[in-house]
Amino acid sequence: MDRSYVAEPYKIKAVEPIKMTTREQRQEAIAAAGYNTFLLNSEDVYIDLLTDSGTSAMSDHQWAGLMVGDESYAGSRSFKHLEAAVRDLFGYRYVVPTHQGRGAENLLSQILIQHGDYVPGNMYFTTTRAHQERNGGIFRDVIVDEAHDASLDVPFKGNIDINKLDELAAEVGSDRIPYICLAVTVNLAGGQPVSMANMKAVYEWAQRHEILVILDATRCIENACFIKQKEPGFASESITQILREMCSYSDGCTMSGKKDGLVNIGGFLALNDDRLYQKAASLVVVYEGMPSYGGMAGRDMEAFARGLYESVDYSYISHRLEQVRYLGDRLDAANVPIVKPIGGHAVFLDAKRFYPHIRQDQFPAQTLAALLYVQSGVRSMERGIISAGRTPQGNHYYPKLELVRLTIPRRVYTYSHLDVTADAVIDLYSERESAQGLRFVYEAPVLRFFTSRFEPISQ
Ligand SMILES: *Cc1c(COP(=O)(O)O)cnc(C)c1O
Repeated sequence: MDRSYVAEPYKIKAVEPIKMTTREQRQEAIAAAGYNTFLLNSEDVYIDLLTDSGTSAMSDHQWAGLMVGDESYAGSRSFKHLEAAVRDLFGYRYVVPTHQGRGAENLLSQILIQHGDYVPGNMYFTTTRAHQERNGGIFRDVIVDEAHDASLDVPFKGNIDINKLDELAAEVGSDRIPYICLAVTVNLAGGQPVSMANMKAVYEWAQRHEILVILDATRCIENACFIKQKEPGFASESITQILREMCSYSDGCTMSGKKDGLVNIGGFLALNDDRLYQKAASLVVVYEGMPSYGGMAGRDMEAFARGLYESVDYSYISHRLEQVRYLGDRLDAANVPIVKPIGGHAVFLDAKRFYPHIRQDQFPAQTLAALLYVQSGVRSMERGIISAGRTPQGNHYYPKLELVRLTIPRRVYTYSHLDVTADAVIDLYSERESAQGLRFVYEAPVLRFFTSRFEPISQ
């Protein structure tokens, strides 16, 4: 392997064997799963790049933390550790623990959204938008136009277009916009980061309009690392310094510990405002648990607090970004169409350019994910028309981006696993003309990508 990529900043202490399967076994498995990679048994998967959510490897220090977790119902020491870590690293005043990120989204959406309000965001995320809509909110995409062009290689494609905020405020009035949901990084745009300059500009705009800014901080450490590496003026700052400055341009955040928190479960809502905190603390009791555990065991909170400190270590996060870049560079060198620039947690295959002969309503990305599994035992995920769902009127949303996500779990796979993955994708690309699309056999009513079933159109 090319020595310009950073080697692993860890050694392996425990191993988990994985199973290799034959092509015939995989053909049977994908048919039984309705051509939906979410419905495969994990035992039939060789390299699991479905998601980086809750799939991270914990350190020995985190595992040791499980043993000393404080399981007291109230006043848990482990909650104090988590709270202190969030205050220290993020800089927010109040921490409301939740079982995972969507628990925090639920609380936030209930507290801030009135029926008919607009919530601008830099592209939607599935669970985030689902909670906004359930509370009567209307999502409005305000990401820069460049983000919708998968082949455009410009930095910070996650940025918000301030003109779009101006247009929305002029159209509906600032008082119908309770908050701006600013995701750092933007998953559906390909893991694209937001620049510090843009975060600052958005916050200043929001303050002028008396609108809150709430970060979706799920992948904020990756975002901070991109700022350090790519934005002028930040090269000599630590990840923690950058993270704190990012958070200073916001009024709170929702966080999934399952991503950049380096744990298998957990999340929180963080806020600065007393009144909002009081509301969140009384709601969390209804949905999650006491404000001192919020759906997590004491040991989960202990591991989460330790994971947050490990996540801001530059040798960890820079290696993570290098792994993603390695996979992307290999595919790019073979002319496989991918989203550029390469993002923070995943490489996204551009299925519209991979399979130009398959119409979007015959699901090119879903097709590619299914075929990649059959080819190699690598599991990936569709992020395109199926994930986008239907409009309130019942038509498909037709997102510009029709992608397959190869998501790299943290500290789990080696560069050799990434080579196996790259070889399989390159082989599929060389035989792309033979692929045919899919159609629904069963369409799930909400978040349909999770449980819908398909069959090949040729059947
Ligand atoms: C995963 C994710 C969430 C939701 O977090 P969960 O822990 O899965 O509930 C929200 N926003 C973004 C950007 C995410 O990637």
